[in-house]
Amino acid sequence: MKFSKIKDNDIANGIGITMSLWTQGCPHHCKGCFNGETWDFNSGKEFKKENLDYILENINKNSVQRDLSILGGEPLCPENVDGVIEVCKRFKEEFPNKKIYMWTGYTVDDFTERQKEVLKYLDVLVDGPFQQENRNLSLTMRGSSNQRVIDVKKSLAEEKIVLVEA
Ligand code: SF4
Repeated sequence: MKFSKIKDNDIANGIGITMSLWTQGCPHHCKGCFNGETWDFNSGKEFKKENLDYILENINKNSVQRDLSILGGEPLCPENVDGVIEVCKRFKEEFPNKKIYMWTGYTVDDFTERQKEVLKYLDVLVDGPFQQENRNLSLTMRGSSNQRVIDVKKSLAEEKIVLVEA
């Protein structure tokens, strides 16, 4: 798994303040992507144990209560999915009451069995590629109207896609 940056205080990705982990490498190449520098799988840094330790040790730094956001790039592509699942697992073991938000260019309906394993750790998942023709800057947590803001816990409990109430 590769990443481009970890941002201690992010107020643009999630509700309230999150620490955000930006994975590196994206196979989707959506037209109009706001984040093209994260496409290249040869760029970024290898995510190591010290990076995971940094997240776990600093999530409440300076007494600020943060949740975790994971975006990219593509967190769930084959190159990143194993590392991302490990981060989510370890984070929830340490902080079961904190939320994990994730953005993916895949749609849940097309998830592989391996990708589905991340769902049990997530609270909110924004799925689907960015579509320039459906771009809408007034939407919360997503850039185009085809993307869905999914309440993962409710969706798993009800065995159907349940969206986060606006
Ligand atoms: S999935 Fe996200 S990072 Fe990847 S090309 Fe689409 S908008 Fe850009």
